[in-house]
Amino acid sequence: FYSGPLDEFFEYKLGRLSYRTLDFIEIRTSGDYQGGAVVNYCDNSEKFTRISEHKHFTPWEAHNDSICFKEYSREAEENDPPYYPVRLVNDNSILEGYVSLAEKETAVTFVGRLGTYRYLDMDVTIDEALATSRAYLQSIDSGIPMPTFIHPPITKK
Ligand SMILES: Cc1cc2nc3c(=O)[nH]c(=O)nc-3n(C[C@H](O)[C@H](O)[C@H](O)COP(=O)(O)OP(=O)(O)OC[C@H]3O[C@@H](n4cnc5c(N)ncnc54)[C@H](O)[C@@H]3O)c2cc1C
Repeated sequence: FYSGPLDEFFEYKLGRLSYRTLDFIEIRTSGDYQGGAVVNYCDNSEKFTRISEHKHFTPWEAHNDSICFKEYSREAEENDPPYYPVRLVNDNSILEGYVSLAEKETAVTFVGRLGTYRYLDMDVTIDEALATSRAYLQSIDSGIPMPTFIHPPITKK
């Protein structure tokens, strides 16, 4: 199973798939900063997109102080962590090339948001991980090798 970036697996030989990344700016404060775990800023009034206040993810704990992070989104450069796949026209043609290369691999199943170059929310990620484990158990029972992708990066028309 390979859960890293699809283009990295092939040493970027067809070019880089583009991503958005985030810069996190830390805020430390006493008491409560925003009264909830996540506040989204969906319009252009601020340059950041959301603020997460981590103590509210664990409301069963008590903390006098607080740590929050503001998230600033931007185009990912080479050494930035790849977060959100852009998937514009150029990416899709590079992606098709990597999918073809991946399909020639044996004994590798590409999984997850990076291995399949898709944005996945947590609920989808967990559902797909369970489906992948079921497919693996079936593969062991039947002796039929695992496919390259359980969840293909491109939906065939
Ligand atoms: C910034 C950000 C914010 C998000 N916010 C939300 C949200 O608010 N709500 C929500 O539902 N979802 C959110 N998501 C989506 C969700 O968190 C991810 O889609 C999910 O965690 C993906 O799980 P994954 O296992 O596919 O990938 P990851 O969690 O990225 O795991 C991949 C693993 O593979 C490892 N790896 C990479 N390369 C290699 C290698 N060469 N060899 C071995 N291991 C390797 C990595 O170290 C990592 O541990 C967010 C995602 C991001 C990036």
